Amino acid sequence: MSYLNETHDPALQSWVDSANVPDNGFPIQNLPFGVFRPQGGAQDFRPGVAIGGKVLDLAALAAAQPFTGQAAEALDACSGGSLNGLMRLGQAHWSALRLALSRALRSGSALQGTLEPLLNDMDKVELGLPATIGDYTDFYISLHHATAVGKQFRPDNPLLPNYKWVPIGYHGRASSIQVSGQSFPRPVGQTRPSAEGGSPGFGPCERLDYELELGIFVGQGNAQGDRIALDEAESHVFGLCILNDWSARDLQAWEYQPLGPFLSKNFASTISPWIVTLEALAPFRVAFERDAGDPQPLPYLNSAANQAAGALDIGLEVLLSTQQSRAQNLEPALLSRSNFKDAYWNIAQLLAHHTVNGCNLQAGDMLGTGTLSGPEQGQEGSLLELNQGGKQPVKLPWGEERLFLQDHDEVILRAACRKAGYPTISLGQSAGTVLPAKA
Ligand code: CA
Repeated sequence: MSYLNETHDPALQSWVDSANVPDNGFPIQNLPFGVFRPQGGAQDFRPGVAIGGKVLDLAALAAAQPFTGQAAEALDACSGGSLNGLMRLGQAHWSALRLALSRALRSGSALQGTLEPLLNDMDKVELGLPATIGDYTDFYISLHHATAVGKQFRPDNPLLPNYKWVPIGYHGRASSIQVSGQSFPRPVGQTRPSAEGGSPGFGPCERLDYELELGIFVGQGNAQGDRIALDEAESHVFGLCILNDWSARDLQAWEYQPLGPFLSKNFASTISPWIVTLEALAPFRVAFERDAGDPQPLPYLNSAANQAAGALDIGLEVLLSTQQSRAQNLEPALLSRSNFKDAYWNIAQLLAHHTVNGCNLQAGDMLGTGTLSGPEQGQEGSLLELNQGGKQPVKLPWGEERLFLQDHDEVILRAACRKAGYPTISLGQSAGTVLPAKA
């Protein structure tokens, strides 16, 4: 379950100098996958792997045939505009490719001369949507978020009785998921009538929010009718990205009963462009724990291995910049920090639950974790929590206040794994900007 091997050796250095800079986030121990093309060009996107400040062109590397066996098969799947072909191959192939890339990028590698001409400067490429996302499911796995939001919508009954037994989720929309750099018009829609029995309001959303989440990319799927067992589940996961599930709270409050969120969520979602593999995250596994007073998960969601190392220590943060702060060249304001390890359910449980009824997952499907809030003040993963249900504006360092997002606000989500004696493994960032509503 730990997957630790020679690719995780913290002493490894790369012949790509920028990968050895402390805290650069993309050291040789990371090797996240994405798709890219030269900036401003009309070329098709192609798979690449990030190493320091460079992107290695995997489609071009495949033509050079530097690897053998499963690594060569995996590299051959790195063609076309997405990672779906690589994702479909499965864990053994991803691991073989990671090992081959790690060896080829190490200081002293005989393959340096082959790879060096295939490197692109990260700041000269455009990064695309890494996979064709067939289906997108959003979960709700932070007990702290569920309780805080539940209090806003149902003060007497914040946490519904199913929460501690069922990983709650809903089917979202894949077509409006874009990568970091996305901008989108403020959504328009219906809102709750101001008087009981009256007509609903209609117009641009006035309570636009972000949600700090991680996205889980499914690699190898399952046949319809089959289940993915808990202890096999992680071998079906290609890797993780950062996800901003933009949310229109006023639309949500009016539409969410009885079938859950709909137009309040499906107008835009922004992910980070690099997918960090579960293998790269192996050094940051931690025990999955529940409070002693909480029920233990049902057997299909519980195992000794899952309890021992089913959670991941990934630090998360939310930053905000506004038209005013950018005009004054100010750094974005840090709004909150939280950690994935505080979630109530973990990755393997989400896959096991999603397929327990025979639902088939497919390569490139994405599962959102739900807003990842922590237990403390300063760990809120949405404005709805920071502003205490729309009552307390958030003060920004340059003097502005925000109850909810205003036009031209940019929300930046970041995620990284840090621990003493190991290089920082970054998931990069998801940045998105709100534009005025269309007339
Ligand atoms: Ca969400």
